[in-house]
Amino acid sequence: MKIVIATPEAVPYVKTGGLADVAGALCKHLKKLGEEPCVVLPLYKVIKNNAKDIVDTGLSINVPVGDSKITGKIYKNNDSSYLFIDCPIFFNRDELYGTPEGDYADNCSRFVFFSRGIIEMCKELNFRPDIIHCNDWQTSLIPLYLKTLYKSDKFFENTATLLTIHNLGYQGLFPPEELYITNLGWDLFTPEGIEFYGKINFLKAGLLSAEILTTVSPTYSREILKVEYGFGLDGVLRVRESDLYGVINGIDYDEWNPSKDSYLPYNYDYNNLEGRKRCRVKLFKDLFGYSKKIDKVPIIGMVGRLSEQKGLDILLDAIPDILAFDVRIVILGKGDERYHNRLEELFDKFKGRLFLKIGFDEKLAHLIYAGSDFFLMPSKYEPCGLGQLIALRYGSIPIVRDTGGLSDTIEDFNPLSLKGTGFVFKDFKASSLLDALKRSFCLFTEKDKMMKVIKNCMKRDFSWKKSTVTYLELYEKALEKRLSRI
Ligand code: ADP
Repeated sequence: MKIVIATPEAVPYVKTGGLADVAGALCKHLKKLGEEPCVVLPLYKVIKNNAKDIVDTGLSINVPVGDSKITGKIYKNNDSSYLFIDCPIFFNRDELYGTPEGDYADNCSRFVFFSRGIIEMCKELNFRPDIIHCNDWQTSLIPLYLKTLYKSDKFFENTATLLTIHNLGYQGLFPPEELYITNLGWDLFTPEGIEFYGKINFLKAGLLSAEILTTVSPTYSREILKVEYGFGLDGVLRVRESDLYGVINGIDYDEWNPSKDSYLPYNYDYNNLEGRKRCRVKLFKDLFGYSKKIDKVPIIGMVGRLSEQKGLDILLDAIPDILAFDVRIVILGKGDERYHNRLEELFDKFKGRLFLKIGFDEKLAHLIYAGSDFFLMPSKYEPCGLGQLIALRYGSIPIVRDTGGLSDTIEDFNPLSLKGTGFVFKDFKASSLLDALKRSFCLFTEKDKMMKVIKNCMKRDFSWKKSTVTYLELYEKALEKRLSRI
């Protein structure tokens, strides 16, 4: 099957979050199954500056964006499994979507160009996809374009679309004055169409027009049908409920492999955890200095976007109470300025017990997974979450809130049966988070039991194999739906 994976980010070239891991890993595993996938990305500055294996194909496209036609050059990697659309006025910037102060003001134009550019690029390359697998709002106009502006284009008559919602909280909202940029008609600007409380909603365009919709865990696929988690789109999603599926993300077990991980100072595996012990000591010494108590003090790690979604509000409230225990907290992340500021205040106050690094740091992230005892994800909502899956693989016991993919992947520890892979709490409250942490501190004092749970974690398998097969089945479904309409 010929599959275009349309995505605003993908490993190994550019990543700000889990979507990048998913897009890259899915491409790799589809290839392993003999399919013909190809990831399409904007050629951001960070890719241009760092990627060694990409070349200009010499081909270009002219993409209508409002009244203008904007030229994009097509680049590709060694084996053509990644294609890039180069357009310096849109993508030669330091960030992908915006700065901590806010989104880029021309994001509507940037992602109209990218979405329509992908369609034009397929034609230019004479690559007739069976499936265009769209991801999040940045590519959500593609299904609608195929059903409107490209409706009678024979080139795409057998092309079906699948849209994956990685996070319903980000929808691509723009004022109606920018509708002309999309080249879509005003007839679509209705509540049944792409209007959303007076604005244009890119994600809604995809939700209405893709043949199949998926999200990244079964629990999240049910949660988003409720007002509480629906971000105003629960009504639209309920209409499409029979086409909505939850496919749990995997992680790339080659990349995330503690026995081979080149970011780690010491490697280890399920049968020999000596390297993990050493990583733990290194993490502790590097961040907090030497202490005789290293073995006696639990290290709680957290790696992720510092946003409301990730539960920063309850975490910030809980930090003073957590640090009333003799524990260490390590936080690595980047996100909203208001959380940066509040965390920095706490960092000054609790220096020596709280370590904070604001920024993106792959090497430190790996050491945190390998060296921390517990991995914290107190998310308000969590479509899937990769952090907890990586933590399981590296033997750091997850402490998570009972929501979305966290509910689907972490089993609460039972002190009687010693079954379970983490600590799960229900209420989105600092006190509930603290209760879960207290349970984890008790486990930490019993070395044998602690080891048993670490092993429970490392035994779990969240590799991509199963999910890739599920995506293939859904691609087939999307095609059937598409062809039955012709
Ligand atoms: P998101 O909602 O941001 O996609 P996920 O848990 O699904 O969250 O995925 C986050 C991914 O990004 C994980 O691989 C995590 O290790 C990585 N990550 C997040 N923030 C950072 C950071 N500051 N430095 C290094 N890696 C990070």
